[in-house]
Amino acid sequence: VKITSRAALPAGALVLLAAMAPASALAQARTVPGEGPLKQAPRPTTAAITAADAMTHVYALADDSMMGREAGTRGNVMGTDYLARHARRIGLEPAGENGTFFQTIPLVRRAADPASSLTVDGATLAIGTDFIPLPSVEGVFTFAPRMAPANAPVVYGGQIGTSSMIAPDQVAGKVVVFTAPSFRWWSAAPLDRYAGAAGIAIATLDLTPPPLVEYLGSAQVELAADPAARPAAVPAGVMVTRAAAERLMGRPLEGLAVGTPGRTVSGTSARVETPAEHPARNVVAILRGTDPRLNQTYVALGSHNDHDGVAAQAVDHDSLRAFNRVLRPTGADGEPDSMTVEREARFRQELAALRGVRPAARRDSIFNGADDDASGSAALLEIAEQLAADRPKRSVLFVWHTAEEKGLLGSEYFTEHPPVPRDSIVAHLNMDMVGRGAPGDLQGGGPGYLQLVGSRRLSTQMGDLVEEINRAGNHGFTFDYANDANGHPDNIYCRSDHYNYARWGIPITFFTTGGHPDYHMLTDEPQYLDYQKLAKVSTFVADVTRAIANRDARLVVDKPKPDPYGECRQ
Ligand SMILES: [Zn+2]
Repeated sequence: VKITSRAALPAGALVLLAAMAPASALAQARTVPGEGPLKQAPRPTTAAITAADAMTHVYALADDSMMGREAGTRGNVMGTDYLARHARRIGLEPAGENGTFFQTIPLVRRAADPASSLTVDGATLAIGTDFIPLPSVEGVFTFAPRMAPANAPVVYGGQIGTSSMIAPDQVAGKVVVFTAPSFRWWSAAPLDRYAGAAGIAIATLDLTPPPLVEYLGSAQVELAADPAARPAAVPAGVMVTRAAAERLMGRPLEGLAVGTPGRTVSGTSARVETPAEHPARNVVAILRGTDPRLNQTYVALGSHNDHDGVAAQAVDHDSLRAFNRVLRPTGADGEPDSMTVEREARFRQELAALRGVRPAARRDSIFNGADDDASGSAALLEIAEQLAADRPKRSVLFVWHTAEEKGLLGSEYFTEHPPVPRDSIVAHLNMDMVGRGAPGDLQGGGPGYLQLVGSRRLSTQMGDLVEEINRAGNHGFTFDYANDANGHPDNIYCRSDHYNYARWGIPITFFTTGGHPDYHMLTDEPQYLDYQKLAKVSTFVADVTRAIANRDARLVVDKPKPDPYGECRQ
């Protein structure tokens, strides 16, 4: 599941963690009661879906050697190589490019060009201190990637969001300086009326919180622009300090009339695009169905093969885990609770229990993503191996998506460039984070706990069928639909790959065992997963797959389809 905020470990917590870590001790690999081993040697897998097989795949995919499997890095190439190797062993058909299992997506890194420089009547404005080139943020604001004014006149455009903003016919070829009462200028007024301007300068750099400045100034990993897409309607933008805005105007901003001319500006401000260092790949495979007619249609199964790579700073694993279990029960999905005397006592108790088994600090900087989403990726391998031994009538399309954590990019690209006709995909079943759901992970957790999201959002029949399979097959799940509520603040329906199928009107179900304190943390490691549970979920999803694949008729879509290019709404 992709993260919603840039919530990182707060500085205060890092200080605390550093203080708690003992300076040195012999490394020990003893097992804490209730946890699995830290390492596990791979064993040959069987056609049956078993906890041992699932464990083999998760321990391989979430191993430190995979370096967090971040899309566009070597770790992601290694992880996708592993998946393709097993798809071949199981006997699936490659459905990627050039007869391979891989579909490479055009991942690029966009960042401010450090050579950006603007001059006002010959005096330089410095990138990073006087101005930052504004990126486009999907669904929030869009700017052209580059401005290159050559002695362009500057004009004061007024305060964003007021009725007295400058008329669009007065900005042609000019750089327009705007002020704003707060750093949230983008919610006040759209700037696409100013398409004819040479550039836009927004004087809010001093008002903007430093983490947001850092985010806007940092590199973003995105899909390369589709050359057919329409160009941005807004010229390139920069965020400037008030002092820089006053230099652009040649006078104080205080009391300035809209339309007041300023100085002239030259130079360039740009964001530049570089391809990812290593290919970011969806792994795509088909298990051909037995029915000569129905096997031209597909039940698609999905997980994501990527995670968050390596952290800039290592912390002690056990301290972080104890901290989050006490103070941050949903991991990076929420901010930490405030420290109280009682919580500190519990934190020290939790940590002391871990130190009793493993006295040494274990410095950790790898986002292993064992639950997110090595668990779903292992489930897909297990389901493929089971179905291959007894093929259903329709074909099954397995997609291990890349760059889910970058904003569902692998599934976005896949559903826009599918290797089979899009309308031959009759359903999509997504598994992202399916190895947890214990009582210690979230409220209501237990062996039969499973969250379902979206199962009735396009097809009532799909929702009914999932429940029917659970009953008929005695799977024993109790479904938690709480996260499927309209307008739920966690917005889970829009936060994993299934939405990219749903937007094209393909009925979906998202299966997940839900959040936990290790969500998007360095501590999402294989020893904390419940492999019986993972095998149980995999068996259930295999049964649902088989049921849909053996039906003569497609599931009926009886609910409105979304706009495929519109914003997702839960
Ligand atoms: Zn995630």
